[in-house]
Amino acid sequence: MKKTILIIILFIANILLFAQDISLSRVEPPFWWTGFKNRQLQLMIYGKNISQATVSIKSPDVALVRVNKVENPDYLFLDLLIQPLNRRTNIMITFINKGKQVAGCHYELRMRKAGSADRVGFNANDVVYLLMPDRFANGDTTNDNLPGMFETTDRNNPDGRHGGDIKGIMDHLGYIQDLGATAIWINPLLENNMKKYSYHGYSTTDYYNIDARFGRNEDYIRLSDSIHKKGMKLIMDMIFNHCGLEHWWMKALPSPDWLNNWPEFTRTSYRAGTMVDPYLSAYDSRQFVKGWFDQTMPDLNQHNPYLAKYLIQNSIWWIEYAGLDGIRQDTYPYCYKDFMADWDKAVLKEYPRFNIVGECWVTNPAGVAYWQKDAKNRDHYNSFLPSVFDFPMYDALRLGFMEDDGWNTGILRLYDILSQDLSYPDPSHIVIFSDNHDVNRYFDSQKDDIRKVKMGLAFVLTTRGIPEIYYGTEILMTTGDDQGDGQKRKDFPGGWPKDLHNAFTASGRDAPQNDMFQYLHNLLNWRKNKEVIHSGKLKQFVPNDGLYVYFRYNQHDTVMVVMNNNKYETKVVNRNVCNEFLKNFHRGKEIISGSEITDPDHLSVAPKSVMIIEFKH
Ligand code: CA
Repeated sequence: MKKTILIIILFIANILLFAQDISLSRVEPPFWWTGFKNRQLQLMIYGKNISQATVSIKSPDVALVRVNKVENPDYLFLDLLIQPLNRRTNIMITFINKGKQVAGCHYELRMRKAGSADRVGFNANDVVYLLMPDRFANGDTTNDNLPGMFETTDRNNPDGRHGGDIKGIMDHLGYIQDLGATAIWINPLLENNMKKYSYHGYSTTDYYNIDARFGRNEDYIRLSDSIHKKGMKLIMDMIFNHCGLEHWWMKALPSPDWLNNWPEFTRTSYRAGTMVDPYLSAYDSRQFVKGWFDQTMPDLNQHNPYLAKYLIQNSIWWIEYAGLDGIRQDTYPYCYKDFMADWDKAVLKEYPRFNIVGECWVTNPAGVAYWQKDAKNRDHYNSFLPSVFDFPMYDALRLGFMEDDGWNTGILRLYDILSQDLSYPDPSHIVIFSDNHDVNRYFDSQKDDIRKVKMGLAFVLTTRGIPEIYYGTEILMTTGDDQGDGQKRKDFPGGWPKDLHNAFTASGRDAPQNDMFQYLHNLLNWRKNKEVIHSGKLKQFVPNDGLYVYFRYNQHDTVMVVMNNNKYETKVVNRNVCNEFLKNFHRGKEIISGSEITDPDHLSVAPKSVMIIEFKH
């Protein structure tokens, strides 16, 4: 009997103890706005036993529509409906247990900035400068090593953190602007508190906070403001496919299906082409989409409705908070494609002129074009993704100038890939590049031949699409011998206080570096106001004997680009071939050399070189 009483007493004590043990740790998004088209908002509430509390919101501005519980009692998902408001408001959310308030918070609904919905995303008027924040410039050495962050700075480790930060980018915005770029894509800045390889930022451990080693959220806002003051645009790198193993929610997930789980670690096949394969097997689909990107990168299940909303709201939060002009979405096909379409639609509903580019790394145009908004796909899938990366052209740019010109080799590769533009719903809105952070640098791929690099970059900057330049291309940065990922993302010389050379200045660059910098500087600044390059039509001629000619034109201007891919021979443009354009012109200006063209009928082009000629009536 005594034993039974003791058990009952212990049981009651346990309930009392349990009941008191309710706390609130996180509310995400941390604040929101009034004035969105979608007036619904779902808050993720996290705290010890928080689901045992009753939630109350007493406000005329917001209705608590539904309280959603999940498997883990430490989470709640609150569905709110925000009344049509044109002002900021603060609501009180209270958590009550047994008639007592056990937790509470003020939740802020800010007012959207005027014109926020009308922002124009990056487009073919722009040149995008891509940089890796840990490797660009260390503007604040006091944030290199911080308590609570696992990895410390070690510049001797190519795969370690090197200390670059937002202040470093701020300090060199003038440099980027002078080079002629008009938009900046920064590799991920969100917290990556991983034990190793945290520098690249692709293992998010907090979706609402900038990694403290890069700076605070407020520093990111200051960076965004400074970029905008210079008339440039900011593109944020996002990753929805996976998070980092050290993400705070990994300690106790809201529900087991927050992730795609396997009985034992299973890696994705990385075969992005499978997602467009009309003969795709269930096995390969599962392997590709649900497989983990890495042991340290758990695969997110965007079919969980709470996670789906969480990710959608997170991107809208950053666009509105930081005034973004674009998003680059990592590993786009690795996510569930119906979810990605929902995401694009939700973002474009609030920002109809915004731009998002997805990393769909497939090597043929049809496989990339499948993902662009309004593609005429046989399975009727519409991703609603405005822009994609031109990976097929990236391959052609790597091979074209290295090979001898044959029936289907050499410079013909560029012509061939362009001729496949019929696949894209909008080829003028795809991102074209020779380098990015995942590949060996273009300079290495062209065996350090500056002439070939110049030809490739001239093509990137004058063909259709949105050009992207990887940081350091302008100073001929190299990958190094071991070809590891860290080597593709070396420190920009001069970005660190004790660097021997400061390549941000002309005096810190050697002669070939200054030659390359000046070449890009001239081309980018020339391109800035060239409507004919931004939106003009394109016509190309089948390369003949290594000579490739194309024109960009509109009703006002005509630009001719001529490339001679021969190693030794100077070539003369056959006037008869290009007569449909040349017949109208008698003079022009070659914009790389600045020389006047007075006899367009006898254009001779030096071996391994390019001419860009603006014709004048
Ligand atoms: Ca630093």
